[in-house]
Amino acid sequence: MLGPVILAASRSDKMRRIVSAAPVTKPVVDRFIPGETVDQVIPIVTDLTDKGLEVTLDVVGEDITTVEQSYAARDAYLELIGRLKALGLGTRAEMSVKLSMFGQALDEGHELALANVRPVVEAAAEIGTTVTLDAEDHTTLDSMFAIHEELRKDFPQTGCVIQSYLFRTEDDARRLAANGSRVRLVKGAYKEPASVAYQDKAEIDKAYVRILKILMAGEGYPMIGSHDPRLIAITQDLARRAGRKLDEYEFQMLYGIRSDEHLRLAAEGHRMRVYTAYGTDWYGYFMRRLAEKPANLLFFVRSMITK
Ligand code: FAD
Repeated sequence: MLGPVILAASRSDKMRRIVSAAPVTKPVVDRFIPGETVDQVIPIVTDLTDKGLEVTLDVVGEDITTVEQSYAARDAYLELIGRLKALGLGTRAEMSVKLSMFGQALDEGHELALANVRPVVEAAAEIGTTVTLDAEDHTTLDSMFAIHEELRKDFPQTGCVIQSYLFRTEDDARRLAANGSRVRLVKGAYKEPASVAYQDKAEIDKAYVRILKILMAGEGYPMIGSHDPRLIAITQDLARRAGRKLDEYEFQMLYGIRSDEHLRLAAEGHRMRVYTAYGTDWYGYFMRRLAEKPANLLFFVRSMITK
């Protein structure tokens, strides 16, 4: 029951100010967002890759209000890619981007976001890696898929994310599986109305499995973005039945969540990619992590009370 309340708070400026200013927030944030700068995140990336894990990097930020902020987002990714290049980490680290941070919701936002993300995709390709377009709330997805299609004309490795809680996603999965896309499948982290999304956890999980079957049987590269042990076991089974080799799909989990499982799957020979977010505008990302697991919120509230 708490999840929807926290997700509503994730869009509140007042709550953003209160939570961001609370001194006890930082240690809890650090569990999920291990740095605010490139300098702080690079050692995390090398630590993860030294352990045999792959990485996808997210410079946190969303819901920007000016064109200048969209340019700053683009430049932050370009700086990051420059650092990965210098360290020779290009093939181990991908980028994940939220198009809202690239200006998608501003006037002429679709064109602006495309213009901002293209140089990032180009720079990533130059160092032998790629970019995945994160899925945000359902109102943004037609634009995201159109940008994905446009980018794939020159950079077919560009990935995108689909969310099993949305009714539309089975159709999206069929299209993406047929055209050979890299696709991350997640359950979905936003507050969506019953007119467009399943509200019941069991329904969301069942849809996840139906979509997984579509992706596994298709031409593309499925990226399983989940910490759910049941879905991980089902993935392994479906991949075997589809005759997919271990390098023909991958698992992805978030930094700070089920870290032992990251290592276990990698040790089994799976490609395991850790989604690692960093930056100063962490509020929206952090609140979604709280909403996913009430125990995180209790930990957070307890640390506020005992301080
Ligand atoms: P759940 O049933 O929520 O969780 C299964 C188990 O995992 C829980 O019992 C718990 O042990 C653990 N767990 C899950 N979440 C947490 C948490 N926050 N803290 C502590 N333990 C937890 N969503 C989008 O809408 N768009 C995206 O682009 C997107 N990208 C993602 C990228 C990756 C790599 C991952 C892993 C998730 C992404 N998500 C995205 C979030 C996703 O939609 C889910 O909200 C999130 O993954 C929780 O769902 P789950 O599949 O892990 O299953």
